Amino acid sequence: MLRGTPNEMLAFVLDRFAIDPTFVDLSAWAQDAGLDLAVVSDGFGFYIAPMLAAAGLSHVPVLGNSLSGPRGELRLEHPFAHPECIGCGTCKMRAVLDARLRRGGVAFVGEGQSDRFGALFADLVFAKDRLADLCEAAGIDYSQWRDFHQVRDAVATRDPAVTPPLVAGLPARCPGWTIADHEEGT
Ligand SMILES: [Zn+2]
Repeated sequence: MLRGTPNEMLAFVLDRFAIDPTFVDLSAWAQDAGLDLAVVSDGFGFYIAPMLAAAGLSHVPVLGNSLSGPRGELRLEHPFAHPECIGCGTCKMRAVLDARLRRGGVAFVGEGQSDRFGALFADLVFAKDRLADLCEAAGIDYSQWRDFHQVRDAVATRDPAVTPPLVAGLPARCPGWTIADHEEGT
């Protein structure tokens, strides 16, 4: 699908797109608050770290697919896949569960189809667009968000005494299959 080289495509992206400035604010706040922040993507991925660097955010880790190779022979690799999940390149369920093991509660912010697998296992979910519809269908509690200022403010003012329940019985497989089945049946 991709005809350019990664460098050509990257130049195209950096010329036309920039990181949402409210994400830059969220990142600065999270750093001050001692909270880990990561970008998790199931897209082509090659543009994310350079876009973050262009916004002064090269310290924000990126969990995503990687694209490399010469023109016409690009290969997409999935270093953050789940060993049993065939539904995702980057498994957002795994990203959330790994983050929870390392740091405890996880707030997940998303808007797309691949985000539902992370939303299902996060303690706080911020959803809009397609992800909001998927959360409704799957009965996942979520807050609507427009930009990252709302996310920052909601996480900053959360009541730490209210610890969301952890999901019981963590699955060995990506639960996305279950939701996909549900969708096909409705
Ligand atoms: Zn998965």
